[in-house]
Order: sequence, then C-alpha cells, then structure tokens
Amino acid sequence: MEEYGRIWKQILEEISKKVTSVSYDMWFSKLEPLDVSYGKLVLIAPLKSIQKTLSTQEYKNYISSAIKTVDNPMVTDYIILNEEEKEEYLSSSSELNIRDSGEISKPQFNENYTFDNFVVGQCNQVAKTAAFTVAQNPGLSFNPLFIYSGVGLGKTHILHAIGNYVLAHNPKANIIYSTTEQFVNDFVESMRNNKNSDKMFNFREKYRKADILMLDDVQFFIGKEGSQEALFHTFNDLYQNKKQIVLTSDRHPKDLSSLEDRLISRFNSGLTVDISTPDLETRIAILQKKAFQRNFNISKNIIYFIAEKITSNIREIEGALSKVIFYCQLNNKDCADDLELVMQALKDDLDISTHVLSMDTITDAVCAYLNVTKDEIKGPKKTKQIVEARQIDIYLINDMLSVPLMSIGNYLGNRDHSTIIYARDKITEQLKTNNLLKMQIKDIKNIIQKN
Ligand code: ADP
Ligand code: MG
Repeated sequence: MEEYGRIWKQILEEISKKVTSVSYDMWFSKLEPLDVSYGKLVLIAPLKSIQKTLSTQEYKNYISSAIKTVDNPMVTDYIILNEEEKEEYLSSSSELNIRDSGEISKPQFNENYTFDNFVVGQCNQVAKTAAFTVAQNPGLSFNPLFIYSGVGLGKTHILHAIGNYVLAHNPKANIIYSTTEQFVNDFVESMRNNKNSDKMFNFREKYRKADILMLDDVQFFIGKEGSQEALFHTFNDLYQNKKQIVLTSDRHPKDLSSLEDRLISRFNSGLTVDISTPDLETRIAILQKKAFQRNFNISKNIIYFIAEKITSNIREIEGALSKVIFYCQLNNKDCADDLELVMQALKDDLDISTHVLSMDTITDAVCAYLNVTKDEIKGPKKTKQIVEARQIDIYLINDMLSVPLMSIGNYLGNRDHSTIIYARDKITEQLKTNNLLKMQIKDIKNIIQKN
C-alpha cells in the first residue's frame, strides 16, 4: 500500500472513534485516498452528495482533528474531490510530477515546513544554522548532521526544510526522507522477498542512490539488529561517496547505548546539535507567526497569555492556538481578545482554578506586613510606600504561583504586563544586594505559609 493509503487508514480509524457508525459508513468510509500533494491528502468522493455533506463544518472538524491526532508530517491537511475534479487533478498534476527518469514522483516534503517558516530563538539557532549550511552545501560541511531534542521541537520540520530548500535549488537531487519506521519496513520487506532479487535491489537502490539521506527518529532502531546492520552499510556507502546524511533522535548519540557501538560512533562523527525548549520570547514569536499564517487576529495580551502558559513544546503551542481559534469561530468572533473565552478554550491545558484565592492570600499578607490596604495596592496611587508594597506583592505572586503575568496585571487593577515584568525584575535585582528586603520577603512568606 502506498504510504498515504496507510496514513488514511489511520485517520479513518481515529474518525471512527468519534462519529456514529451510521455516519462513518455512509460518509467517511466512502472516501478513497488518491494522492498526497504538498502535505494535502487528496481524497475522492464517489458521489457529489458525499462531497457536499463532508464539507459542512462539523464533518470537516472530524477529519481535521483526526489528521492532527495521527500527526504524520506528510499529511497536514486534506481536500475532497468529486469524480470530475479527480480527472482534472490527474491531468494537471501528472505533467508536473513526471521527472526525467519517467517515474511519477510525489512531492515528498510538506510545503509549510520551510526555513522561512521556522522561527529562530536561542533554543534552536544552532540547529537551524547547521541545517541551513547543510542544505546549501550537501555533503561538504557537516556529515553526518545529527539533531536531537524532545518531541515537538522542530526536528521533522528542519528535515523537511532541508528537503524543500535543496529541491528548490536543485530539482533533480535525489533526496530520501524516511522515518526510521519506514526504513525498517523497507528493509524487512526486502528480506522477506530475498529470493526475488529485484526487491533487494530496490532497497539498495532507494537508499544508497540518495544524494541526501535523512532519517527521522533513529532511536527507533533500538532492538532492530538486522536493520542496524543495513543502516551501517548504507551509511558507509553514502559517507564514502560524500553524500549528505542527516539524522534526528530524541536523545544524544551517546545515550543511544543499546545501539551497536559502531553506529553510535558514526552518528557522532560529524556535527551533533540539540534543540531545547523555547524561551518566552520565542514562544511569543512562534504564536505571532502562526496566527498570522492562519490569518487570525489575536490580541497581544492573549498571545502573551498562551505563551506564558504553554511551555512544553511547539506542537502543544500550535495545538493551543488551534483550540483558541476554533473556539472563537464557534462563538462567531473573528478576533481572539477575550481572556475568559480563551481560558475556556484551554481549560484542559491550564490549571487556574485556585489562583484568585491565592493571589488574595499573598496580597493580604503583604498588606498586613507593610501596612497598606488592598485598595491602595490595586489602585493608582504612586507614593513610595504603596509602590514598594505593590512591587513586592507582584514579585511574591509571580514567585509563589504559576499564574500568567497578565492575570497578575488584571488582578492588580488591570495593570499592563510590562509593569508586572518591571516590578518583578526590579525586586529580583534588589534582592541580590538588599538584605533588609530579603528579610521582609522572608517574613511575608512565613506569614503566607502559616495561613
Ligand atoms: P519533532 O519532529 O521535533 O517532534 P516537529 O518538527 O514535528 O517536531 O514540530 C512540531 C510542530 O511544531 C510542527 O508543526 C512544526 O512546524 C512546529 N515547529 C517546530 N519548531 C518550530 C519553529 N522553530 N518555528 C515554527 N514552527 C515550529
Ligand atoms: Mg518528528
């Protein structure tokens, strides 16, 4: 089965978990996958009525969210064509897709995963630069390039970006992008057919003829000795011929200790770089870029709020953004600026139930200790005593609770988050030298903890 056929099967399975069996049988199961083009799965509806039904928002959401769940980088979107459109599609795309060899080739890289769309911050700058260098001079700079990171931090995106870049500059380059799973499948398949020497030939042909071989998630070679052997020989062949190899993994080569030593040492013989979790600025930049790309208006405060709350990885950030957009659309809003609504959209991702109470507890303690009233802290007054109390309050709330800065701002009389950052940083700075302040903060914390 073609790769996209397999992916569609997985998507269907996800859909079947969500819809009634009647609508599954009547509509979804009738679709046939035809192709993948630039990350879009092309599906054929045998009847126009089926195409029409599946184009209503509710049904569209089922398919889109199943695609998200399956999470295969080859397919990030879909389109449903009827039989007439199918003919049109086939006649227009075949011309484009026939390469010199006469083989039909499918665009294999997701067009959204480019270097241009990759937001750079401290966390991924080295990896991006290394990958870009490799894309400009395959085989001549760092070989192999080994990129490792936790999930959802952009490894697959970078591999596709290399593919897109090289193909744009050299359309005839033979670039093989393969998940480790696919490499292993191909190898097993070739062994199964080893009497049929054609198939074996195909495996070697496919992988050893590559100008660039990119293997995603090589940690999945663990426990697959036969495939490791095949990879070892493939690697040596390509390397000796100065062909570029790019590998990704969820950990550093030295931590892939259950792989054969000779593989580990080869993995680590070029350049090894990691991607870490994005800092706040990078998360904000990513959200801004993604919101812009999706043509959806999101207020600065909301961007800031999401960036503060969702910190684990970029896939989660994208997921949160999708939820927010989806929720706004459901509520007929073309701009996300309503914090309540956003909190509702993200309720599964946030833990905000008790914060108001806790902010109150902290503020009460600050007021009692520094002899100011709550109204004064929340109000506009700027006398020295009140300002100091306010800043200490901000510092403590930020220090003791994981509330977003924006919520602290809202709580303290709708102050801007930059005011909150300023106060937090100022106290942090003073604490380095000011012993009196240190004692005060310690005392207040003691009061809070006794309550
Ligand atoms: P990994 O392969 O490391 O698990 P992916 O490459 O699949 O992660 O990235 C997860 C999602 O986050 C993808 O949709 C990708 O486009 C997006 N993403 C990751 N890093 C960035 C970045 N620096 N800028 C923009 N989008 C990113
Ligand atoms: Mg990946």
